Amino acid sequence: MYRRAGRRGWYAFLDWEHKDISLGGTDDEEEAKAAFAELLKERRGILELASGETSLSAIFDMCRERAQTNHTPKTVYELHLNLSRVLTWLEGRGIASPRKVDKPLVEDYKTSRRFDGVSASRINRELDSWKKAMKLAVEQRCAQPRVLEKDVVFVKLREPRPEPHQAGLTRAHLERFFEHAGDAGYRALFRVVLGTAMRDEEVRHMAEGDLRKGAIVVTPKPPGACECCPDGWSTKGFRYRTIPVTKETLAAARQFLKAKGALNLDKKKVWKKLQAFRAAANKPTGKRRVRDPIPHFSLHDLRRAWASHMLDAGHKIQKISEWLGHADVLTTMRYLRVIDNELPKPETLPW
Ligand SMILES: [Zn+2]
Repeated sequence: MYRRAGRRGWYAFLDWEHKDISLGGTDDEEEAKAAFAELLKERRGILELASGETSLSAIFDMCRERAQTNHTPKTVYELHLNLSRVLTWLEGRGIASPRKVDKPLVEDYKTSRRFDGVSASRINRELDSWKKAMKLAVEQRCAQPRVLEKDVVFVKLREPRPEPHQAGLTRAHLERFFEHAGDAGYRALFRVVLGTAMRDEEVRHMAEGDLRKGAIVVTPKPPGACECCPDGWSTKGFRYRTIPVTKETLAAARQFLKAKGALNLDKKKVWKKLQAFRAAANKPTGKRRVRDPIPHFSLHDLRRAWASHMLDAGHKIQKISEWLGHADVLTTMRYLRVIDNELPKPETLPW
């Protein structure tokens, strides 16, 4: 708020608008103050700027300048681009003060960028730059240190996983996948899931006593049977079920039980292993690219693949549903991936 030389009345200068705003042409300071307060109320975020606070755009400029001294031109350019984007967005919402940056605001930014169809990695890079600038703001005592604390998450977006049904795993895919599955323990785990369609939790709780000739029985465990569940463990829906398996699957189950102690079965770790094996299987040999790359899939997709392949092998859906431990065949239907638009041959029709 200030008076301009040679002009009547009080003015305000709003940093991000880069123009003088008349406060009603009054000479009275109190009246001007009231008008200024009104203006601030209208445009959220500039309250602190009134008392000589450094604005976000000034902080961002400082950040860019600083980057120029110790980064490559490419990095500086990237930073410039990211900060400009963030700043435009902030200014669009009337935010000019570093103090106004908080968790909901950052979350809003993520959501709105996501809504624009921007990729997660792109947004993460923007947030990275923003965080860098906020670090500087904290250093300059323009923002509170809590803006960098855990509850304001600047960088943590992941590309959404593909829809499960997109992962149509063929026999060829799976054979290639297991050829390239290097780590024997994890390989055995994946092989068991493919051969039994057991759920994640069920494989973890499988014991030596559950292995039979030609079958694996999914069995609830009494209290004390495992460290993770002191009150005992039960399958989903308390359904004991006997799953028919091949010799290879049984062998994999034995191998998994043997290796289990040394494996890290943390969900994230298992996911990473699965993706590493997949990447290895999709890696081009020499200059030739893999012809039919294995699509992105999850551990649960192996369960879906099992169901689809069992159907292809001629097993009835009611039985498949039972082996999967589903209460309802409708659930099983959602698992299956049937790509078959052809009419059946007339001789297969009973009447
Ligand atoms: Zn347990």
